[in-house]
Order: sequence, then C-alpha cells, then structure tokens
Amino acid sequence: LEEQFAKSQKMQAVGNLAGGIAHDFNNVLTIITASVDFLLLNHRQGDPSYGDLILIKQSANRAASLVRQLLAYSRRQTMRPKMLNLTDVIADMHLLLKRVSGDFVKLERRHARDLWPVMADIGQFEQVVTNLVGNARDAMPEGGTITISTRNVEAKEVRGFGYPELSDDDYVLVEVADTGTGMAPEVAERIFEPFFTTKEIGKGTGLGLSMVDGIVKQSGGFIFVDSKLGDGTVFRIFLPRHVPAALPAASQQAGGGIAKG
Ligand code: ADP
Repeated sequence: LEEQFAKSQKMQAVGNLAGGIAHDFNNVLTIITASVDFLLLNHRQGDPSYGDLILIKQSANRAASLVRQLLAYSRRQTMRPKMLNLTDVIADMHLLLKRVSGDFVKLERRHARDLWPVMADIGQFEQVVTNLVGNARDAMPEGGTITISTRNVEAKEVRGFGYPELSDDDYVLVEVADTGTGMAPEVAERIFEPFFTTKEIGKGTGLGLSMVDGIVKQSGGFIFVDSKLGDGTVFRIFLPRHVPAALPAASQQAGGGIAKG
C-alpha cells in the first residue's frame, strides 16, 4: 500500500509539473501560430516560403494538440460519479469511436443484455474508451479489428480470470481488443507509467494509459492488459457492480398514496 501511495504521489508531482510546463508552452505556441498566420496573409501558394510556413503552422497545431493532452492530464477534474449503463454509454460513442479508429479499421461491439449499472463519471469513462481505441488503432497501421465488449461477471466467475487483485464480488467487464502488433512483455510491463511511450516524438505523450489507469482506480476498478507480440492486445476493465439502495419504506407508501388519489 505504501508503495502504491508513493507511486500516486509521484504521478501527481509529474502531473503538476507537466501542467505547469504545458501552460507556459501554450503561450509560446499561441505566438508562433499567430505570427505564421500573419505571414501567410502575404504569401500565396507557389511563393518560395509558402511550403515552409504551412509546415510551421501544421507543426504548431500538432504541438498544441499534445499540450492539450498534457493539460487534460494534469487537470484531472474532480469525479462526478453517476449510475451508468456502460453499454448505453459506449453505444452513444459509436460515431466518435468510428472517427478515432479511422477508415482502415473495423469497429465491432458486443454487448450482453441487461448489463448491471456501475458508478462512474461519464466524461472520464469516455476518455478511457477513447484512449484505448486510439491506441488500438495506432497498433494496426495496416488495418484490423477493434472489438469493444461489455458483460456482467458474477462473483463466482471472478477466479476464472486468474487476476488475484480481484475480490469475489460482482463486476461489470469492459474489454477493448485489437488485432494489432501486440507488445513485448517488457513493454506491457511499463505502459501505465506516465511518459512511457514507444511512439515517435510528436505522436505520443505516454500519458494516455497513465490517465486511464488513474481513472479506473479512482472509480474503484481494475485494469489488466493481455498482449501477444504479433497477435494483438486485450485491455480488460473491471468495475464494481453498483447495487442501488432500495427505496425507503416511507417513500414507497407516499408513492402508493399518490397513485390511489
Ligand atoms: P502513447 O499512446 O502516447 O504512447 P499511452 O500511455 O497511451 O501513451 O501508451 C503507452 C504505450 O503503450 C504506447 O506507446 C504503446 O507502446 C503501448 N500500447 C498501448 N496500447 C497498445 C495496443 N493496443 N497495442 C500495442 N501497444 C500498445
């Protein structure tokens, strides 16, 4: 537990530092973008500097998008958990996820009926799924299939997954599977660390999965990765089943009274 605490302290420090740098960096980028836009007013396509100016503008835009990710990471908003049906949440994200996965990737969904509710922050859960799908797409440059599924896992089934961290309770399981490159074990071991990335500079921040891990833990859940080099990767998220409290007897009586009257 102490080790976990130290790690979360470290992550918070890293997040604060990143947020500070990102903020200053953003101011610099604003100046670059504004100056390039100004210069572009006086250049037409075919002018000698036009191509270079466009390149500067595109690079500044790319840097701005990375900075936005950093800021989102460091500002991890306070959670507002609500009772959610994750099948519905994922179904509502379909268009967005199709856009994230791109034209070369097939996106499939498998949802068990009557999914149990969980308590989670909808915005944060959407970030989690978007991140996992984005990573899956990046792992399939030549195309493939991403499968998102949801199902109930009863307490008596939990042991069968072989994850000792899980207690014998009911969970809702969300899986994001891809048919991409997979990961070597020494990579898979480190993917939840902040700033760990195997992507080229400018493509990845290494913050996505660290954020995902933080959100899942904050929601009382667990995330596991199962990956085989050359075969693909499965991320499994277990969130505790939420059992809504029964209505107090008094309010049930009041309800009955209204119905009669
Ligand atoms: P980033 O995507 O910016 O690199 P992440 O924290 O999201 O940061 O991911 C860290 C690393 O984990 C990636 O650089 C990649 O090496 C690996 N990874 C994550 N998801 C997958 C996946 N679905 N298939 C293969 N490798 C993955």
